[in-house]
Amino acid sequence: MGSRRKFLEKVSLTTVGLPLLSTPLNLFATSCEPYEGPILKVAIMGLGSYGTRVAEAMQTCTRAKLVGVISGTPSKIEKWKEKYNIPEKNCYNYENYDAIKDNPDIDAVYIITPNGLHKEQTLKVAKTGKHVICEKPMGINAAEGQAMVDGCKAANVKLLIGYRMHFEPKTMAAIKMRQDGEFGQPKFFQGQSGFTIGDPTQWRLNKELSGGGAMMDIGIYSINGARYMLGEDPIWITAQETKTDPVKFKEGIDETIQFQMGFPSGAVANCLSTYAMNNLDRFYMTGSDGFVEMQPSTGYGPIEGRTHKGPLPQPHVTHQTLQMDGMAALIYDGVQPIVPVDGEEGVKDMKIIDAIFLAAKTGKKVEL
Ligand code: NAD
Repeated sequence: MGSRRKFLEKVSLTTVGLPLLSTPLNLFATSCEPYEGPILKVAIMGLGSYGTRVAEAMQTCTRAKLVGVISGTPSKIEKWKEKYNIPEKNCYNYENYDAIKDNPDIDAVYIITPNGLHKEQTLKVAKTGKHVICEKPMGINAAEGQAMVDGCKAANVKLLIGYRMHFEPKTMAAIKMRQDGEFGQPKFFQGQSGFTIGDPTQWRLNKELSGGGAMMDIGIYSINGARYMLGEDPIWITAQETKTDPVKFKEGIDETIQFQMGFPSGAVANCLSTYAMNNLDRFYMTGSDGFVEMQPSTGYGPIEGRTHKGPLPQPHVTHQTLQMDGMAALIYDGVQPIVPVDGEEGVKDMKIIDAIFLAAKTGKKVEL
């Protein structure tokens, strides 16, 4: 019996397996038995807005626990120590975190800092012998992503990317339906990912720290979504960029990009990535025999979805709670989520982003 099957049998009795189960029946499975397996002990690096969201979500994890922090701001460390009961010996700053190698209380570091810092920080954490969980986008281009994959392999640690949608129940149900052939042959994907960005001085609009604009931050959801909804990787890209505010969106910071992707089966995708419009969080995929529409599709939830058969009924569970329990299951039991969350998966998206930037710049079709 495969380890996934064993795990599913185990979790159907305990709720631990929420991220892996897509039917409402299984999602509500409960047990009084406490979880007794290994716990993934995590230090968060970067105590900003998303780091805070992950920390809160981890309070209800079964298999993962927040035990440490890495931050350049002592006042934040003090606050987190008190709020999450983090011992002083598990607190680090950006100068001394290589000392984590001598700390047996920490199994993994979750990097939640600006994109332009991910590569260096990943390589440094890998050298401590701790697993790395890194936020999306994994770096600022595919070469960085590949260096991160290679560095983690050489250090014999896992590299996982914060693709929380790969653990989201309605998303997983839609992917499962596609895998089961319920939409027939997938033909077309439409992804709209965007919001109106505020403060012009934030790191997201600084090329060195962000690596780009909306595409790195939010457009990546349509890229990744096209791949998991259609079940293929693209072979060509075309892209067109629009910039209405060149003062706010400087050279190298994309405001709006429309892009098209072609897939080996003949399926096509048409997507929009933007920092200049709100209410853009929608996926639509149609196949020869049916369709799925998700709106919202990648926000923090609840995600809403319907297919030609009716609404997707799976309940909302905090994405980051499912993700961290799922990542613990992956690390300790080798349980793979329905779509991978490893470094190689991250590199695939980075290659597509590189190609989109090239296609937008040259106006030419880019083959992958
Ligand atoms: P943020 O600005 O709120 O937090 C960034 C943190 O990094 C801050 O605590 C900041 O102090 C720290 N930092 C360390 N060095 C820094 C430097 N040189 N310049 C600026 N800040 C520095 O940003 P965020 O929204 O938390 O985003 C962090 C990462 O998380 C990004 O990679 C982003 O793409 C990702 N993210 C992912 C999701 C998701 O849903 N998976 C959502 C939001 C953000």
